[in-house]
Amino acid sequence: MSFPRWTEEHEAFRQTVRRFTRDEILPNAEQWQQQGRFPDELIRKAGDLGLLGVRYSARWGGSELDYWYTVILVEELARGRDMGSVVGLLVQCEMATGIIHAHGSDQLRDQWLLPAIKGEKIAALGVSEPGGGSDVAALTTSAVADGDDYIINGSKIFISNGVRADFVTLAVRTGGPGPRGVSILVCPTDSPGYQVGSPLEKVDLHSGDTAELFFDNVRVPRRYLVGEEGAGFGYIMQAFQGERLVLSAMMNSLCRDVLEETLDYMAQRKAFGRPLASMQVWRHRMADLMTRLEASELLSYRAAEELCEGDPQGETTVSMAKLYGAELTRDLVLECAQAHGGYGFMKENYVARCARGVQNWGVGAGTSEIMREIIAKRRMPAGVA
Ligand SMILES: Cc1cc2nc3c(=O)[nH]c(=O)nc-3n(C[C@H](O)[C@H](O)[C@H](O)COP(=O)(O)OP(=O)(O)OC[C@H]3O[C@@H](n4cnc5c(N)ncnc54)[C@H](O)[C@@H]3O)c2cc1C
Repeated sequence: MSFPRWTEEHEAFRQTVRRFTRDEILPNAEQWQQQGRFPDELIRKAGDLGLLGVRYSARWGGSELDYWYTVILVEELARGRDMGSVVGLLVQCEMATGIIHAHGSDQLRDQWLLPAIKGEKIAALGVSEPGGGSDVAALTTSAVADGDDYIINGSKIFISNGVRADFVTLAVRTGGPGPRGVSILVCPTDSPGYQVGSPLEKVDLHSGDTAELFFDNVRVPRRYLVGEEGAGFGYIMQAFQGERLVLSAMMNSLCRDVLEETLDYMAQRKAFGRPLASMQVWRHRMADLMTRLEASELLSYRAAEELCEGDPQGETTVSMAKLYGAELTRDLVLECAQAHGGYGFMKENYVARCARGVQNWGVGAGTSEIMREIIAKRRMPAGVA
């Protein structure tokens, strides 16, 4: 029995995304990386094709599909070999908009979600701060109520789409210390007092913009509060499930691409008169990686299934999928770069380019250490963790 059971509808959607990736991303990937930016137009084109609201309500222009379609979307986009733009698209369609879709007022959804799903307004998610990203409950950017407004002060860092965003789904402290003091606001980026630092120079994901954001007495209307005051920490933790699924699917797709390319290379590259692919040491290493990739995909698919069904196990499984995927990506990409010999160190080589930023996969949307914490908390006997 195959798992998952892809239907004709899944396959049709996959073909749509595959064409988009082949026509819009793959041919431009290298140029965008050299320029250090993918065009905003890509987000607009993805919106025109209905790729930015896969799981969202039709009322705001979404397709009302489920996490399986999100997985397909990510798997296909990742084959475009430009993870900077893919991260930008996924922030737009999942990470920065999920909380507004789930908890925002209809007015907020009309004003911000609907144009984001169309690709007309660009979204960013502002959670991490210079003082720390893992401990979300300790964030310090403040929003103080003042008449009909909140006044925001503080800063955020490592924010994807941060340079180009029209609005930020922003985690702020509206109350006392700890998780109960955290709320979510929509912050328009044309608000007076809002400032974007220079784009951060990353070792990889070059086409994507990542920024530090500054808030100096920024006023936003109180109606821009998403859901309830003090409920923001819970919203972020909930939204992390989708983010982690997206990242695990992205890593698996990248690994499959890199592995396939490496197997082709090993079939034609000869050393000491015979193809690398005939040497037992490489055959065994590749067999190990194939096995781990298969396991990683199955874990990710199981997480998708549990998230679709609202199974509470989903939170643990998706953390396992993200952790396992990040460790696999690091090992697989470095091993595949090694199999390319000197070519595995050349910029023109895709595997080498993947190797450059390989440690990043264990950082975003919760680090591997935080994934282990979640798993241990859920699975270790009480009193031990
Ligand atoms: C390319 C990129 C894009 C990003 N995009 C966004 C974005 O769009 N929006 C956003 O809000 N953030 C974004 N981030 C930030 C990302 O979410 C944080 O970097 C991440 O959560 C870790 O936070 P930190 O960097 O402050 O590390 P820290 O929290 O300072 O952690 C440092 C180290 O300590 C470890 N550690 C922390 N706590 C524990 C613990 N309890 N036990 C054991 N080890 C621990 C961590 O695992 C890590 O190895 C992005 C980051 C990158 C690199």
